[in-house]
Amino acid sequence: AEARNRNERVVMYSEALSDRAQRRIALERELRVALEANQFELFLQPKFAARGDVLAGAEALLRWRHPQRGLIAPSEFIPVLEDTGLIVPTGRWVMRSAIAIARRWREAGHPELRLAVNVSARELRRDDFVADSAASIAACGTGHRLDIEITESLLMENIDHSIDVLRRMRALGFRVHIDDFGTGYSSLNYLSRLPVDVLKIDQAFIAQIADNPESLALVTNMIGLAHALDLRVVAEGVEHEEQAKLLRLLRCDELQGFHLGRPMPVEEFERTLLAR
Ligand code: C2E
Ligand code: MG
Ligand code: MG
Ligand code: MG
Repeated sequence: AEARNRNERVVMYSEALSDRAQRRIALERELRVALEANQFELFLQPKFAARGDVLAGAEALLRWRHPQRGLIAPSEFIPVLEDTGLIVPTGRWVMRSAIAIARRWREAGHPELRLAVNVSARELRRDDFVADSAASIAACGTGHRLDIEITESLLMENIDHSIDVLRRMRALGFRVHIDDFGTGYSSLNYLSRLPVDVLKIDQAFIAQIADNPESLALVTNMIGLAHALDLRVVAEGVEHEEQAKLLRLLRCDELQGFHLGRPMPVEEFERTLLAR
């Protein structure tokens, strides 16, 4: 009886495992289809200059319009894209789509607006990431105002490689943002060595800025640090006017968050924000 129990347990365990594995395989297959069937979309979230609330540009955020399940957020599928390597063709699609948008803005008389795309570890580590980006730019016409956002922890993983890649991306005209700044463990020494242009303070700090003196102190110092290093600062996750007010007082350069504008379809962004 004991042996049978053990066997049953073994069977149940492996069924559970294969269940997960099967869901995972199904998702991977669906993602391959998504890429070919054009089910990915970019949403744009506006960024505003803190002074004067002028539109400064946008961040492109990936969405999956699933034929049955509707719009799906990146947290649900980007990890699978990364594990399977599908992030590479997807990232290429993101970059090319963003370049096409930026080009349209320029032609519509908004050459000052910048557009940022997020880049993940798996993409940045590839030897041909820079060459790929260069090819995308070349394919989509000259003159661009594109930025890349890279999370802090990722940059610190291999600092020498990061420095090399970022330097070459900047030479191609990309401005480099450190995303989710404050959540990694970058030492100040590394920060001054990295060829970056913008620090993007993580939304966890911004969420607490009006209620928690420690968060306020941290944000004050992050902004001071950025400016001391000649970098611009963006606050992400601004959800209330009180937070925006404090950030303007602290001389944060740009603001982004639900209070100022949610991520929205490109068409809506252009209709509501470019028209102004
Ligand atoms: P992220 O780059 O740090 O983007 C900020 C996230 O915060 C976005 O979530 C955005 O919708 C959300 N957000 C913006 N304002 C607010 C606010 O005021 N309050 C709150 N609570 N949230 C706000 P989203 O679109 O779900 O993206 C999540 C993450 O997925 C991004 O974090 C980025 O790391 C990744 N991601 C998105 N698009 C791409 C892409 O094209 N490529 C890659 N590699 N990663 C992407
Ligand atoms: Mg980002
Ligand atoms: Mg972020
Ligand atoms: Mg993030």
